Amino acid sequence: MMKRALLFLWLAAPAYGFSLPDSVSQATFVYGTLEPSEKLYYRGQQVPVAKNGTFLLAVSRDTQELTLTLKDGWFSKKTLTVPVQQRVWPVDRIEGMASEKVTPPAALKKRLRREQKLLDAARAQRPLKEGVFPFCFVKPVEETRISAPFGAQRMINGVAQRPHSGLDMAAPEGTPVKATADGVVILSEEDMFYTGGTVLIEHGSGVQSGYSHLSRRTVQTGETVKAGDVIGAVGSTGRSTGPHLHFTLAWNNIRIDPQSILSARCP
Ligand SMILES: [Zn+2]
Repeated sequence: MMKRALLFLWLAAPAYGFSLPDSVSQATFVYGTLEPSEKLYYRGQQVPVAKNGTFLLAVSRDTQELTLTLKDGWFSKKTLTVPVQQRVWPVDRIEGMASEKVTPPAALKKRLRREQKLLDAARAQRPLKEGVFPFCFVKPVEETRISAPFGAQRMINGVAQRPHSGLDMAAPEGTPVKATADGVVILSEEDMFYTGGTVLIEHGSGVQSGYSHLSRRTVQTGETVKAGDVIGAVGSTGRSTGPHLHFTLAWNNIRIDPQSILSARCP
């Protein structure tokens, strides 16, 4: 009986061992594994680890080299560097836009500040326990086309704006929008200045998805959702020029290119 129990324990032991890809690409999630005694630090923070030893982190759009610190016990400390494949980001040039559309008028500043506070507070929430994060992401909408890729550098009247932070998936108004993975809704707002009808979902350990310009939302803040659950519908609310979903994915506020994971098949 004892022997059988030991054998079962041995079989159930997870396949630990430190692993990291040999090279990574900009604007992607990176998965790896750790030994139970090891701790990994990235940008000064300890990286959360799942029960089976797997961890997840994100490489930003502009990262040149991934630098991590690996600690094992009290004395062993190693700095690891992983080369990052550089991507060429497209540049969108828009000339002759009226200046009040580029710089928000003073009257709007109060509203924008309030909405930014709301977003920051939501993004800081971690309603799920540490070491929980998704390995697979469901396509949030059946798009007719990708109307703007992630990462494009916008130049308006010759001035560099923030790069495009998500993936624009064009679809007819009213097309259902689904949660990309299991999680908890951390923000559900009807009318934000830039993003209109907006939903943010935390999927665990700081992995968050965002859904903007929605014509309607069917979830409220605090609600638990499953991957593929309908959370709203495509619209053109906020600063938008036609019905589309602006879809974002991030880990600890580091945005990644959603196309890098939506092309991977879920098991
Ligand atoms: Zn967009």
